[in-house]
Amino acid sequence: MGISRATFARIYESARRKIAKALVERKEIKAVYGDVYFDRDWFICQSCMAKFTLPNREILLCPICKSENINSLLKL
Ligand SMILES: [Zn+2]
Repeated sequence: MGISRATFARIYESARRKIAKALVERKEIKAVYGDVYFDRDWFICQSCMAKFTLPNREILLCPICKSENINSLLKL
């Protein structure tokens, strides 16, 4: 990659901390480079703003607050 192992480790650790913080604080994670695709359908709950996937598409409920007011993230 043209950078030292120590530099790579610092960049990786910084990214890991930012992503962990974003997940805990429910912030959006935006990709800076390249296209992003979802391996599964992701949904957002309009009641509690949780973002999640559903293993069973037959039951469209928020796993956090059980609200039925959810939307696909791909349609936003
Ligand atoms: Zn919810």
